[in-house]
Amino acid sequence: MIIELSDIIKTYPGNEVPALKDVSFKVGAGQIVTLLGPSGCGKTTLLRLIAGLERPDSGVINIRGEEVAGKNSWIPPEKRGVGMVFQDYALFPHLSVEDNLAFGLKGRDQAKIIETLELVGLAGYATKNPAELSGGQQQRVALARALVRDPVVVLLDEPFSNLDMSLREQMRRDVTRIIRESEATAIFVTHDQKEALSISDKIILMNHGVVEQKGSPREVYELPETTFVASFVGQSNLLEGTIGSDVESVITDIGIFPYYHTHGKQPGEKVTLSVRPESFELDPKGSIQGVIEEIVYKGNTIDAVINVNDTSHNILIHIHPEIKLKVGDQVSVKVLPDFVAVIEK
Ligand code: ADP
Ligand code: MG
Repeated sequence: MIIELSDIIKTYPGNEVPALKDVSFKVGAGQIVTLLGPSGCGKTTLLRLIAGLERPDSGVINIRGEEVAGKNSWIPPEKRGVGMVFQDYALFPHLSVEDNLAFGLKGRDQAKIIETLELVGLAGYATKNPAELSGGQQQRVALARALVRDPVVVLLDEPFSNLDMSLREQMRRDVTRIIRESEATAIFVTHDQKEALSISDKIILMNHGVVEQKGSPREVYELPETTFVASFVGQSNLLEGTIGSDVESVITDIGIFPYYHTHGKQPGEKVTLSVRPESFELDPKGSIQGVIEEIVYKGNTIDAVINVNDTSHNILIHIHPEIKLKVGDQVSVKVLPDFVAVIEK
């Protein structure tokens, strides 16, 4: 593991509530890891601890096998080999692009500077000033400036949040491709679950200073371990139920859901079920009947809220945008076995 945080606790002076409570995670070489969570959950604090801009109250941080922060250890920021890309890029406005990259390098390696500018697609811009570049180009300069030092890890704090929607998608793809091509290890901070799902090898999902879940985008989306994860990453229907006698189903007020990850569950055990909206499908032979209560057209999909007959339960389902339905229509819905998960915690 190239980065390892163990049992990190951090409370800022004057605050009663800790910003981080017992946070542990690992980052492997070449991985793109995302710290995801709502504003104030402690993401930036974690980056600052890794960079050496803050000290943990307790816990240990290892970078490339060396303890950089711990009870009796401290390696200062400049000796950690960490590259930072800030939200506002923080380029030197009076220096050319190539001089921005050269700044602080021990011995100017012009070949390396040009090679890195080629990597980010800005080889022709070496002598320009940052002010002559677009926002997306400035961000690629900031990334190049971090990469030219061959950092152990690049830390990026909400790097795309200042860009408008169309450019953001493009930059997400460009920046992750550049990081992959340079075989760098990267930790991104974001509060955008779609971004985290699309760029990460691993997501560390945080809430109120604690890690709610760690896993691949697929694991976090398909098998959320807490109700927070189920609701923060994508949309979810949370249903109370009991494990069926075959231990391969969960019985709820609105029907029986197939469920195959029943390790350690006993028949009759009470559980909370997370069912993704795409686990439901309109089907005349479907076992769930209900009335459409709300329709939200989203272009690529329609969010439909269905009030299940003879119950007070509403379920959110995704339907194909071509299907024309209106509020008040009676529909039948079947359950697909995918994306159904029992909340483990
Ligand atoms: P995030 O990046 O997820 O939005 P932060 O790490 O910035 O969260 O903040 C976590 C918590 O620590 C918040 O409650 C925030 O108010 C607090 N905090 C952050 N920086 C400081 C600081 N320099 N002094 C005091 N409290 C801080
Ligand atoms: Mg932050």
